[in-house]
Amino acid sequence: MADYDLAVIGGGINGVCVARDAAGRGLRVILLEQGDLGGAASSATSRLIHGDLAALERRSFARVRTRLGERDIWLRVAPHLVRPMRFALPGQSEERPLLRSLLWLHERLASRIGLPSPQTIDVTHHPIGDALKRPFGTALEFSDCVVDDSRLVVLTALDAAERGAVIRTGARCIRAERDQFWRLAVIDRGHRQVITARALANASGGWTGTVAETVLRMPLPKLGAVQIGQIVVRRLFDSENVYVFQNADGRLILASPYERDFTLIGSVTRAFTGDPAIVAIGASDISYLCEAANRYFRERVEPVDVVRSVAGVNQVADRKGRAADRDGSMMFDFRRGKAPLLTLFGGDLTTARLRAERAVSRLTTHYVMSPRWTANAPLPGGDFAWERFDLEVEEVRYRWRFLTEAQAQRLFGAYGRRLADILGQAKSRADLGQSFGEELTEAEVRHLMAREWARFPDDILWRRTKLGLTMKAEDQVALAAFMGKHAEPMAAVEPAPIRR
Ligand SMILES: Cc1cc2nc3c(=O)[nH]c(=O)nc-3n(C[C@H](O)[C@H](O)[C@H](O)COP(=O)(O)OP(=O)(O)OC[C@H]3O[C@@H](n4cnc5c(N)ncnc54)[C@H](O)[C@@H]3O)c2cc1C
Repeated sequence: MADYDLAVIGGGINGVCVARDAAGRGLRVILLEQGDLGGAASSATSRLIHGDLAALERRSFARVRTRLGERDIWLRVAPHLVRPMRFALPGQSEERPLLRSLLWLHERLASRIGLPSPQTIDVTHHPIGDALKRPFGTALEFSDCVVDDSRLVVLTALDAAERGAVIRTGARCIRAERDQFWRLAVIDRGHRQVITARALANASGGWTGTVAETVLRMPLPKLGAVQIGQIVVRRLFDSENVYVFQNADGRLILASPYERDFTLIGSVTRAFTGDPAIVAIGASDISYLCEAANRYFRERVEPVDVVRSVAGVNQVADRKGRAADRDGSMMFDFRRGKAPLLTLFGGDLTTARLRAERAVSRLTTHYVMSPRWTANAPLPGGDFAWERFDLEVEEVRYRWRFLTEAQAQRLFGAYGRRLADILGQAKSRADLGQSFGEELTEAEVRHLMAREWARFPDDILWRRTKLGLTMKAEDQVALAAFMGKHAEPMAAVEPAPIRR
């Protein structure tokens, strides 16, 4: 008997969604991530959970309807991480009358979950205009969602673990031999281990081709990759909108509120070759994004104002060289007498749950498993209705009166109703132990290390939170010292017993 029913290579959004789905259906799952969960493309996204206007423009109505359905599912199961947002397209109504009809269609294809309808706004008399260089004319405004991408990955992994999956970070799969079972050689935090599994999922994102070639030794010809880069600058506008501009060269530029005091501007896409681990946005792309922002916003930004850049690599073509679109693609390889192999390509956050559900469903001929379930089960902390977010934050402030409004927003937005696991009966900030700057406390760090696989300061500063944007250097040093002193392996979550 193999150690596991399914081994997943890759702890990005694709891998964790597959692990969660399969664990919840009763399979014994192990997920291997060579670095940190969401440490690659899945924490470098533009954070959209959306219907995709471009697909609508191409008249892919069925696809957009599916995507909007997935958007609504994410909003329902992760209402702390996924927030509705108004998207503003200044000037577009004059330039692209067709867009109005597309937005109307976007609204019609969505289910009635209560997001506000599209509207045309006179920006001269609206806060949207305040930040613009040309604060006049009209803007089209519609609803979609944004998400905390890396926390979506981590909480999906946590849910998988709570349903019995074993999550191993710092565990690199270096060889996979295929027979009746998969026999995987893994370097797990410096130790070589061999694991056997009845099926394997290659969800290694930008590494998919490399893993297929060098680990599985089943090369996938013609895999193409793109890198997508974005920049973070200080906040350029006060309104809680995502601005969408069509740049002179036809590219769509998005500027979104980012972590309260910042703006995320993106994106630039380029063909990519090489090791995804060293992807970075180039100086010319940073200048391009600054110039694009300067064309529209009153507040100027220069490359020197960029406080952080994010870049990730996404696989864009499958075995036959077909471009994988936002919905990604999946291959199922099964040969008589050989253990099955699933390969997932790219695809975006919006459709990751569905992609995983379809992928795991391909294994139903090999295992007895329970039906699809992920559309209705909240992620940890997400067991409340999305409309209640502000009320829940108020309740948090009432219960832990020492929190400021901004702190309550951040903490509830990150942990939802599981916040009590961190704050417990604390009556003052001092009850939460050592402080690392104004936001982060020992209680939160301990929780992240014990429950969310945080091992290094960057795991906390850039993925479990984005406090790296504001935390002073001396506090970061103190955090590193604290984590070094208290490092201990996370309590192992044993594989679930076989439930069938
Ligand atoms: C900059 C950018 C912006 C994007 N914007 C959006 C957006 O707004 N909305 C949206 O929905 N989608 C967006 N996407 C697409 C989407 O985010 C990505 O396609 C998706 O995150 C890819 O997830 P993944 O799990 O396939 O890959 P990744 O997140 O890259 O995860 C793959 C993981 O596999 C691990 N791995 C690789 N090899 C091994 C091995 N041998 N052993 C163990 N682990 C291994 C890696 O360490 C990595 O963590 C964007 C993509 C990029 C790059």
